Amino acid sequence: METKRPTIPAAEEILGGYFSVLDHGFVSLLDYMGSDEDVERAARVSYGYGTRKRSQTRGLIRYLRRHRHTTPSEMVELKFHCAMPMFVARQWIRHRQASVNEYSGRYSLMPLLFYKPEPAQLGLQSGSNRQGRGAAAPREVWQGAVERWDKIRAEASAGYEWLLQEDVARELARIDLPLSTYTQWYWKIDLHNLLHFLSLRADPHAQWEIQEYARVMGGMVKRVAPLSFEAWLDYQLGGAPMSRGELGALQRLIGPRGEDGVSVREGAGELTGPDLATLGLSSREIQELREKLEPSVLPDFDLDLSQMRAAEAVSTEMERAVPGVFE
Ligand SMILES: Cc1cc2nc3c(=O)[nH]c(=O)nc-3n(C[C@H](O)[C@H](O)[C@H](O)COP(=O)(O)OP(=O)(O)OC[C@H]3O[C@@H](n4cnc5c(N)ncnc54)[C@H](O)[C@@H]3O)c2cc1C
Repeated sequence: METKRPTIPAAEEILGGYFSVLDHGFVSLLDYMGSDEDVERAARVSYGYGTRKRSQTRGLIRYLRRHRHTTPSEMVELKFHCAMPMFVARQWIRHRQASVNEYSGRYSLMPLLFYKPEPAQLGLQSGSNRQGRGAAAPREVWQGAVERWDKIRAEASAGYEWLLQEDVARELARIDLPLSTYTQWYWKIDLHNLLHFLSLRADPHAQWEIQEYARVMGGMVKRVAPLSFEAWLDYQLGGAPMSRGELGALQRLIGPRGEDGVSVREGAGELTGPDLATLGLSSREIQELREKLEPSVLPDFDLDLSQMRAAEAVSTEMERAVPGVFE
């Protein structure tokens, strides 16, 4: 049956396809409602919707995003099926403006799949950021970690299976499965809140593992609502907010010129740390300003369609990983 609903060919191409993330995780776009045109239609509801050129749609969507007119983008919704290690799920679930339905370890057997970081990801504790990682640990540290992870996970799996065999309730049998165990959920969210999620989780300050999910989901948004995605990239992920002090610093260095230009102010040379301090910037804020002035490197959000997997292949893999205690 043909649908009267608007569909987007680039989104239809990936609908229901599964994209791998980390070693056993995935993201699939299960459904979507609306696209850039619906953002525009919602914004123009008070005027009525006429025939608009694409360039006008783009201009309006960029204006809305620049000026934080957010409700029109709440009219677009996306629904995902995702699998992630529990420590990633714990960060993800903090985003409250979404509807979630998680796999039940009380009701179902847990697939015994555990996240094992690649050597490049086993970073040492960052010296500058208490919440982050720095250079990769030496190879022998990674090997030692793998030995320990394998041992702990084998023990946790054996304990889980033993408890199930003894007919202990699944809700208790699972309690010593580690945070590296994969869980999965359906996650539905509107475009405004999804872009907020991506701003926080595609950012280099987020944990690398959740950034990997944000990268794939960003690629899906790019297909569903390309103009909104582009505006988000330009004004949010690739942009940076400025405080009064930061703006004051830049205003000392550059200013408007002629009818439509900007130029370096006469006599403006440089601003030292003490100069910036007189504008009220703390040493941390000065560091953050310096970071904002570095050219930003944005993730590559394009999806590799050759890697897209069928739902059946993914569910078979999950099913094979549940304990075979009832076979
Ligand atoms: C790099 C990073 C580090 C973090 N570190 C920590 C940490 O150490 N400890 C920790 O506990 N959390 C941490 N968080 C989680 C963070 O504090 C937020 O809880 C999380 O990012 C969700 O953001 P949010 O509330 O804006 O999103 P959502 O929950 O999706 O909400 C979106 C927006 O809706 C509004 N909103 C939603 N619910 C309410 C409400 N109940 N009341 C008022 N307004 C609401 C807010 O405007 C909010 O911004 C970290 C997050 C990041 C990205």
